[in-house]
Amino acid sequence: MNLEHYIDGAHVPSLSGETFESLEPATNRPALTVASGDAEDVDAAVRAASKAFTDGPWPRMTGEERAAILRGVAAAIETRDERIAELECADTGLPITQARGQAHRAAHNFRFFADVISNLGEDVYRVGTSQLNYVIRKPMGVAGLITPWNTPFMLATWKLAPALAAGCPVVLKPAEWSPLSASLLPEIMEEGGLPAGVFNLVHGIGERAGAALVAHPDVPVISFTGETSTGQTIMRSAAGGLKSLSMELGGKSPLLVFDDADLDRALDAAVFGVFSLNGERCTASSRILVQDTVYASFVERLAARASRIRIGPPHDPATELGALIHPSHHARVMSYVSSGLEEGARLVAGGTRPPHLPEGNFLSATVFADVTPSMRVFQEEIFGPVVCVTPFTTEKEALELANATRYGLAAYVWTNDLLRAHRLARSIEAGMLWINSQNIRDLRTPFGGVKSSGLGREGGRHSIDVYTEPHVIHLATTPLPIPRFGT
Ligand code: NAD
Repeated sequence: MNLEHYIDGAHVPSLSGETFESLEPATNRPALTVASGDAEDVDAAVRAASKAFTDGPWPRMTGEERAAILRGVAAAIETRDERIAELECADTGLPITQARGQAHRAAHNFRFFADVISNLGEDVYRVGTSQLNYVIRKPMGVAGLITPWNTPFMLATWKLAPALAAGCPVVLKPAEWSPLSASLLPEIMEEGGLPAGVFNLVHGIGERAGAALVAHPDVPVISFTGETSTGQTIMRSAAGGLKSLSMELGGKSPLLVFDDADLDRALDAAVFGVFSLNGERCTASSRILVQDTVYASFVERLAARASRIRIGPPHDPATELGALIHPSHHARVMSYVSSGLEEGARLVAGGTRPPHLPEGNFLSATVFADVTPSMRVFQEEIFGPVVCVTPFTTEKEALELANATRYGLAAYVWTNDLLRAHRLARSIEAGMLWINSQNIRDLRTPFGGVKSSGLGREGGRHSIDVYTEPHVIHLATTPLPIPRFGT
């Protein structure tokens, strides 16, 4: 299959004619030939989007008018949800049952932001008795959206829906390892009734197409999700244009288990939290910190559960753990398995390719016990089905361990001591924290991380803030006395 860019309502190849190949993770056979965008393709897309911004109807419509179209986009996603899930599953190696959930979330994102923009009020300040200040939100202009390869369709819509709701035309640059599901977006947007030029898609390699989008002078806002190091590169490049940035970056999220917790539920949450979505999940509970009084039995049960996780072909509905995205990512994850062993962590489950899956990027659910904070597997984001378990004795020690990495995206606390739960909730360095719960998102809440996990928040009106500029207008309601100079 050939994938092209989508610029100003037309499917087009790269101006240079260049393409790249994308592999199917379950087999590593080439599955797609994809247009490889460069600065000139990005420029064409930005010009189309800029024209839609300056001359087109989209930024001038009312929120309710845009919302009606976004609801049409949601409906167009829903009529294709099985197809989206199948493409996503083949292209990313995600188990089909989990890819289906992602397609549903994508439609929900559009409906949700249609509601947000319909209901969003603007601020008014009365100043004394003589002035009214009112604040209107203005769409910033062309939004550059750069997305990663994990859950690509859902994450693209997580940015597209609020950017479009806010009135910004967009240029989307999907990840080069998972370009397929984005190729459905043009027909979805057309069916939803989006005017031409408002949605533009440029495929390509990050360092070329992505970097050109960040550097383009007519793109005032970039919303990026990806690795922390890429985020740093983008920030450096965006500094010249003083661009507005939203950065959703990496994580190494702790899950704390105290001996007074419901240990069965904590175990379920720990297993699901790190092995769902192939472990390729930014909020994965990839460090499990367990109180020493229950540590040995928890590790044993965790290892037993991990060993029973069904790893298999992504399209098989029985599969719980599919294929990792790419052979080089598989090699990177395997290098962490070697590093854990070399540094003295105790491998209690997985660590190898399952014998019944000789090709493709498969790795059994892997558990390292007795991991210490100095080990690389404790500190670095592995982004695969590998979890580290570390014992602690006191609450103070648990907190120190929880905060002992450079990341601060999510955290999970399992305890039935209410006061302790609240103490830890205040002290753990994380943008988002769940107490006695797995990761369940309410789209109204601010999503994002602290420390090296990101900058800014998305979700609900926070996402609209990313794509709009507040514009304050001061209006005199009585003839104010004006100091008279030079009389
Ligand atoms: P990545 O940083 O390698 O790539 C992300 C995107 O950036 C891709 O589209 C890529 O082509 C592009 N890119 C690469 N170099 C670029 C450059 N110099 N300029 C502009 N664009 C460039 O990340 P990935 O490997 O695709 O995704 C995995 C990472 O994403 C993990 O670190 C994960 O934690 C993170 N992530 C974070 C969240 C979150 O919400 N915090 C969600 C999902 C994934």
